[in-house]
Amino acid sequence: MRLPRIVFMLVALTLLLSPKQGEAQGRRNRAPTIPPPSITEYNPRSTLVVPEHEVPRAKFPAVDLHGHPPTLDNPEAINRVISAMDDLNLQVMVQARGSSGERLTSQIEAVRAAGFEDRFVFFTTLDLQNVGPGSGARIAAQLEADVAAGAVGIGEIGKGFGLNTRKADGTRLELDDPELDVVWETAAQLGIPVFIHTGDPAEFFEPLDLENERWLEMAIYPNRQFNDRSRYPTFEDLMAERDRLLAKHTNTTWVIAHMSWYTQDLGKLGELFDRLPNVHGEVGAVLYDLGRQPRFARAFFEKHKDRILFGKDSFAPDEYPYYWRVFETEDEYFDYYRNYHAFWQLYGMGLPDDVLRQLYYGNAMRIIPNMPTAGFPR
Ligand SMILES: [Zn+2]
Repeated sequence: MRLPRIVFMLVALTLLLSPKQGEAQGRRNRAPTIPPPSITEYNPRSTLVVPEHEVPRAKFPAVDLHGHPPTLDNPEAINRVISAMDDLNLQVMVQARGSSGERLTSQIEAVRAAGFEDRFVFFTTLDLQNVGPGSGARIAAQLEADVAAGAVGIGEIGKGFGLNTRKADGTRLELDDPELDVVWETAAQLGIPVFIHTGDPAEFFEPLDLENERWLEMAIYPNRQFNDRSRYPTFEDLMAERDRLLAKHTNTTWVIAHMSWYTQDLGKLGELFDRLPNVHGEVGAVLYDLGRQPRFARAFFEKHKDRILFGKDSFAPDEYPYYWRVFETEDEYFDYYRNYHAFWQLYGMGLPDDVLRQLYYGNAMRIIPNMPTAGFPR
């Protein structure tokens, strides 16, 4: 039987008048008819079939600026790391654990004795605890000694600087504390980069509510919650403090770990790059953000190809190929290795060769003094 025309018109009108609102409410109001899984249980298999290109080895020899291998003071550790590096096409690893004094020289000597001085370079660290009057000169003197002993950079300066590190008087050591000016100026005179990690993802500074993208990670690791305003600055205030430090020392070469945690808003990082030519970014542990915006990220990397350096952070050899795949391929919707970082799949950026070369080794060769040249294209 045919329904009267007026009924159709009324139905159509109702649908038109209550568009998205009705849809969203319908989705939220409708409860599962069986008990829903928990956030950690629900792990759907993707049914998407698309071309896949695994990339076990980087296309060009790479420098890992953000290396955290074990302490390299014995042949076993050195050989184990070298074997993983060979498989991945990692030509040089920066020991960014930052060791000073005897811990630094023992590693440099062990690597030399093992015949691998072309494969590792060492950054030194700064003792930023209990800074008070005279600390700056003392730290700068140690820095000069470590560079004389073979260190080629400072870092990684950990996120404690800015978050937790206290001065001798008990107050928080601010990133742009004038006592440390002499240290950053000494780094500039020595021509070495400063590799600094400030803060953490912006969401870690926000309330732990059900709209927080990092709810799961913050729930798994309570020590990643920096949303207690009585203890921590806001993300924005911390970054503003860091930017004052960078702007005060324009002769110093800075490498900002984790792309300044600005990968969820690359425009901000672009502004920083545009404003301060002495600033670079390192890509460790933010792959989940780059891989969810492959086109915008690619344009960003193309525009700022002289400012971005490869670094991995934690030394897990089976995780590096995810980086190669995101940077080098145009694969779609593939798994990320750490499911509590991201509830989404990754996409390849398909970076052109000239960008890959800068990212993998060109920029590191330029800003780190005395970099080994063996193994790199001429
Ligand atoms: Zn690190």
